[in-house]
Amino acid sequence: MNYNKKTVKDLDVKGKKVLCRCDFNVPQDKATGAITDDKRIVAALPTLKYLLEQGAAVIACSHLGKPKGERKESLTLAPVAKRLSELLGCEVIFANDTIGEDAKAKAAALQPGQIMLLENLRFDIREEKNDPEFAKALADMAEVYVSDAFGTVHRAHASTAGVAAYLPAVSGFLIEKELEIMGGALANPKRPLVAILGGAKVSSKIGVINNLLDIADTIIIGGGMAYTFIKAMGGTVGTSLLEEDRLDYCKEMMAKAKEKGVKFLLPVDTLCAAEFSADATPELVETMAIPADRMGMDIGPKTIELFADAVKDAGTVIWNGPMGVFEFPAFAEGTRALAKALAETNAITIVGGGDSAAAVAQLGFADKMTHISTGGGASLEFLEGKELPGVACLLDK
Ligand code: AMP
Repeated sequence: MNYNKKTVKDLDVKGKKVLCRCDFNVPQDKATGAITDDKRIVAALPTLKYLLEQGAAVIACSHLGKPKGERKESLTLAPVAKRLSELLGCEVIFANDTIGEDAKAKAAALQPGQIMLLENLRFDIREEKNDPEFAKALADMAEVYVSDAFGTVHRAHASTAGVAAYLPAVSGFLIEKELEIMGGALANPKRPLVAILGGAKVSSKIGVINNLLDIADTIIIGGGMAYTFIKAMGGTVGTSLLEEDRLDYCKEMMAKAKEKGVKFLLPVDTLCAAEFSADATPELVETMAIPADRMGMDIGPKTIELFADAVKDAGTVIWNGPMGVFEFPAFAEGTRALAKALAETNAITIVGGGDSAAAVAQLGFADKMTHISTGGGASLEFLEGKELPGVACLLDK
């Protein structure tokens, strides 16, 4: 996969109509519809401001939620247009449809230095189907396509990939950074490269483990997924998360690590509980011998030391998935301690999106990381080494 893609800076956008795919999929209050976190709108500002300053006429577009091809008033992007206008300090013209009469008329009248926002792309079923006619209708409103929604680059939708067939396609600054840092870490990492994988399930990270075994020097496994590995090694895991149907896979991965000389670290001690509850009393046990009526909820202090030691002299650390049930304070220490260890290394530290990003933010270490990916599913597929349609469609440098 080529991560070296042209960016907005490689094109002259002055006086041009630019279709910019943003990620305005913001969380909203269910009752009032108010935006509860505008981080994604704020994140889009550098690219949008740059385009406006260069004298482009910007047609921004995004999806919001899962309307499944139907117009749902609760998922209109109108509140996003309002918030975006406040943040940019200028009017954001809002189109009541995506490729309909209103959008076309407003796009045609748009002047350099002005910005408009199309209505929720997923109100039209053809968006997610990557329908060529829908993609062409989007493209027909503009002369250049800028992709800046990293969270959807793993999807081949009309606005994330299809439009690139009709317009010169480049990345915005958000995607540029993701490609530079994550792409750099995979293609040409500063070594040693340590990958830390956690979270609930082995099955959701099979492709990631497999790919990273070809690239990393050390792989650390924590979180709920560790217990399937422990069982595969002959340990007892009690009532911990276990994926029986992945035991052979775990054995294969450990054999592959051995064959490739990749250090493969698993928890040696575990904080367990009698039940999955925030009020459960943590009990410390050896990971290979979890009692039959106990479940592993977090890594223990010896494991924290082992894992922290492994990242201390790393050149690059890639982290995806919490080390335990960090949502419960009694079982958050493993994730917190590892976040702290990452914050203290001189390594390039990259945190995958989704739960890992939430954990790092919740525990107060977000500004200590080199990069926190803005995509959950997208960053997983990135780490799997898969071709991302929303990246592959951009012009090579
Ligand atoms: P994922 O989306 O696969 O990265 O999983 C994240 C979730 O894994 C978080 O909600 C954690 O609470 C959960 N998790 C981490 N460790 C454990 C564990 N030992 N047992 C159960 N759930 C866990």
